[in-house]
Amino acid sequence: MNDFNASRSDRRVAPACVIACESIATHPDFRALSDISALDVDLRYASVNNFLAHNFYGLLDCAYVHKTAGTALERAVSWLQEHTPDQRLRVLDALRPQRVQEQLFLALDGTPMAGYLAHPDHGSIHSFGMAVDVTLIDAAGCELDMGSAFDEMGFRSHTDDESTLVAQGVLTRQHVRNRKCLRDAMEHGGFQCLRTEWWHFDLGDRDAVRRDLPRVA
Ligand SMILES: [Zn+2]
Repeated sequence: MNDFNASRSDRRVAPACVIACESIATHPDFRALSDISALDVDLRYASVNNFLAHNFYGLLDCAYVHKTAGTALERAVSWLQEHTPDQRLRVLDALRPQRVQEQLFLALDGTPMAGYLAHPDHGSIHSFGMAVDVTLIDAAGCELDMGSAFDEMGFRSHTDDESTLVAQGVLTRQHVRNRKCLRDAMEHGGFQCLRTEWWHFDLGDRDAVRRDLPRVA
C-alpha cells in the first residue's frame, strides 16, 4: 500500500494545485508508463486482483507517473537490463488519484491495516505520481518470490531488519536477494524503499512533493 504511519512524521500541506485524473493524458507534467520501454505494467487496483478484491480504478486510466518519476524508472530499467537481463520491472501501482486514496482509507479505517495507508488529509505520494509499487518478473513473466505478497500488511513485508527475519525462518536468503535486486535497481533510479513495504518506492522528499507538485484528484 504505502506510507506506513505517515501521519506521525508528515505534515499536512496543501497541494500546489489539483488536476482531475481525467486530464492526465494531456498534462505535460505526467508521463504514460507505456512510454517506458521494457517496463511491465499490471495495475492491481485496476482489477479485482488485490487484497480487497475490488476494482478501484474502474474506467480511470492510472498508468501514469510524474515525468520526473518516469525518468527515474527509466534509470531503474536500464540498471536491470545491464545487471540482471533476465529480469524485468513490473509496476503494480503508480498514479493513485486522491479519490481512490479516500476509498482505500474508508475500506481500511478501524482495522490494524489502516496504519499502512496515508491519511487522505495528508495525501499519498502516489497521488502526485511520485511513488510506485513494483516487483520483478523473470523471463517467463512470473513474479519473483519476495517472501510476502504485494499489499500483505505485516512484518513479513518489512525491509528494515530482513536479517532477523531470515534468522527466524520467516524469509529465505533468496527472498532477500530478490528484494535487494529490486532495491538496487530502484535506488539506482533515485527512489527510496519504504521501511514497511518491500514493493513501495518514493521519489524525492515527501513534504516537498506535497508542497510543490500537482496532486491528482
Ligand atoms: Zn505504494
